[in-house]
Order: sequence, then C-alpha cells, then structure tokens
Amino acid sequence: MLLSVDPKAGFVVGIKLRGDGVTTVICDLAAQIVVTQELHVPLVGDSAAAIHAIEIEVRRAIRTARLPRAKVLGVGVGLSGIIDTNRGTCNFSHLLQWSNVELAEPLRRHLGMPVWVENDVNTLAVAEKWAGDAHDAHDFVILTVGRGIGLGIVIDRSLYRGANGATGEFGHMIVDPGGPLCECGRFGCLEAMVGEDALRRRVGERQGREISRDDLIALVLTEDPPTLEVIESAGKKLGLAVANMITLLNPEMLIICGEGTDLGGPFLDPIVSAVREQTFANLGRQVEIKVQRWGDETWAVGAATLVLRESFSMPGADDKSLAIWHRPTT
Ligand SMILES: [Zn+2]
Repeated sequence: MLLSVDPKAGFVVGIKLRGDGVTTVICDLAAQIVVTQELHVPLVGDSAAAIHAIEIEVRRAIRTARLPRAKVLGVGVGLSGIIDTNRGTCNFSHLLQWSNVELAEPLRRHLGMPVWVENDVNTLAVAEKWAGDAHDAHDFVILTVGRGIGLGIVIDRSLYRGANGATGEFGHMIVDPGGPLCECGRFGCLEAMVGEDALRRRVGERQGREISRDDLIALVLTEDPPTLEVIESAGKKLGLAVANMITLLNPEMLIICGEGTDLGGPFLDPIVSAVREQTFANLGRQVEIKVQRWGDETWAVGAATLVLRESFSMPGADDKSLAIWHRPTT
C-alpha cells in the first residue's frame, strides 16, 4: 500500500488542448506545478497540428524543468469531447471539430513515454479526487461553466463514463426545442441558452454592439441593469437544470468551476439558490457546494493527475485506489 511518497521522486506532464492552443504543466507527485507554459496555435479541425504541438511542448517543458527523462512518468492529455480512454482516441469533439482521432498511440511512439487521454471535465474530476476538495467524497459532480457546460460524474469514487464514454454532455440537454441553434446541430441545448457565446450575443443585442468576454465581465462588474437581467436569467435556467441533476444523482458535493465563474454572484447565486430550493432538502445532509475560480493551468494539472492515477493504481483497479493516497498538506 502506498501511504506516502517523496513528491519529487517523479514528475508528470499535463496537457490541456483548446481550440486556439495548448497549456502544458509539469507537476510533482503531489500535483504541485513546477513548470507551466502556453502555446498559441489553431487546432480546430487540425488534429495533426495538435499532435505536433503536444510533442514540442512536452519536450520543451521537460527541458525547462531540467528533468532527466527517467523521472517523467508520462503525459496526460485533456480535451473537450467524447474520448475512448482505452484506445486513447478522440471519437468526437464539437469544440475541436475532430472525429476518430488517434492521440495516445502516435504520442507514445514519438515521445517514448506512457500517454493517457481523457475528456477534460473528467480530468478535473480526477484532480479533485486526487488532491482537491473532493478527496474524501464518494459521490460528487463537477460542473464546468463557460463557453461549454460540462459535467464530470464520480459515483462510488469512480468516474462514471457511460456505455460510450459520452456522459456529462450536460450542456447538450435540450431545455427548449424551439430555442437557438447549438454548435452540436440541434436546437435549444442548455449550452446554446446559457453558454458564454449565448450570453455575449444576448447582452450584445441589448447594448447594440459586439460584446467581447472582457466587455461582458466589465458590464457585470459595473452592475449594468440589462446585462444583470440576462446573466441572472441564465443563472436561473442553468440552476434549474443543475437542481434536477442533483435530484437524480444525490451527490454529496457539487463543485462549480470554469471561466464562467468570473461572472460572479449574478450568475452563480441563482444556481446555488435553485439547488437549495428545488431539491429534496430533507434527505439528510445537504449537498455541499464549492465554487472554484481558475484557468487553463488547472485543467492541465487535471490532465497531469491522470498519469498519477494510472502510475499508482494497480492495473485494472478502479479509482478506489486513490483513497490510499495521503492528501498533500500545501
Ligand atoms: Zn447541443
């Protein structure tokens, strides 16, 4: 049984792929970052560019950290989409517009080290279980809000992936069949109603101009009334969906994270209220709600923890093996 480990005994690389670039971190065994770096490169529709970029970035990060290769246990890659974790392929990604892309195999061959690929929201769930707020939780969900709306589901300390690895497509639950067109090609998905693009469009209509992400945050901070109305209404809509999900799954903890948390109280308070008011409060302990604010770096750390999980699990063991890990005290 692994009870404690020298955190500097080995290192892991984590990669977060976005449509416009790659965030890379190297972490020690306690999931503390030792190197972080950014590469801006268009990856939408271009998986070959992504594989090339990952190779370059992994090598660069190892050089920057001045690590001997033998100390690097492997690479974890997180990306938005439906991932076959056994084969290390991306079956489909709306965000990247990829289908049936082999990632792990070419990367293993070129880098000469183990590579794991996972849906990015699931990487966050693994990170939360490994060394985060959900370390002691058996059943929890992690909701990411931003351009996309995603959900990572941990049941009995294991990731729930579904039959095809397609769980957690929470943002593509249809909440209004007559609603706006979603990037998935259907109408009225939650994401098309309350995702960041939808919010910017609706606030833009009211302001009579194009609204950038920074404009949106600024309008919220200055408490612009028409903007607050849009944001609060979106928060309520999302809150109702979240409350229904909580009623269904009965998790002990809900972690809300992602860049959408920058919208603050006007967006988040209605979600918390909906969970408090629209779920069964008399089942015993109320679901604990945690809001975490962070950026791409944390997603990459989540990907790095994939390697930690795989390196310290017996082959075939489920995520329960994480329970024997001592939580880092920092
Ligand atoms: Zn959709």
